[in-house]
Amino acid sequence: MIMILKIRQAGDAVLRQKSKKLSDKDIKSEHIQSLIDYMVETLRDYQGVGLAAPQVGENIQLVIIEDKAKYHKKIPAKLLKEQSRKPIDLHVLINPRVIEKSKDCANYFEGCLSIDGYRAIASRSKKLKVVALDRKGKPVAVNANGWFARILQHELDHLKGILYIDGMIPKSFMTDKNFSKDWSDKLEKDIIQKF
Ligand code: ZN
Repeated sequence: MIMILKIRQAGDAVLRQKSKKLSDKDIKSEHIQSLIDYMVETLRDYQGVGLAAPQVGENIQLVIIEDKAKYHKKIPAKLLKEQSRKPIDLHVLINPRVIEKSKDCANYFEGCLSIDGYRAIASRSKKLKVVALDRKGKPVAVNANGWFARILQHELDHLKGILYIDGMIPKSFMTDKNFSKDWSDKLEKDIIQKF
């Protein structure tokens, strides 16, 4: 049976709290293992690319990321290339820690399943190195570039109680509908010029 979890929306206190680390025992518990499965099912159901545990009501340091090729179909190839957006296999990251972050940033619109229906431009480092534990508690290192680095920064912020709107370009905040109408195919230079 597939379990779709309720996604908490902005204004819910759980999104503004700091998340706790998981112990090895926690990671191996049935509760956490099931939670991971449910988060994956939920993310896929919403066709999102990342989900952090606080978004489903749990203040623990757990995020999942997955970007499927089928989500890229409506995005112009030129933009995908500029954003370095490529399919990402499912990553389950526990107790993640940033080791390196590039000074070089990219500015693009992003959204959040917890701020349903809106987008805004956020500046994110183009490269990020993160160490974490996988769902078995095994250490993993992730070297993320482009869109993967953006998703990672967004999800890791959730664990600190930070939402993308905290660092957005305020004037760029808009509905998904207006984003789709005017901005979804625009390159970075066009976005930056306007905002
Ligand atoms: Zn989010």
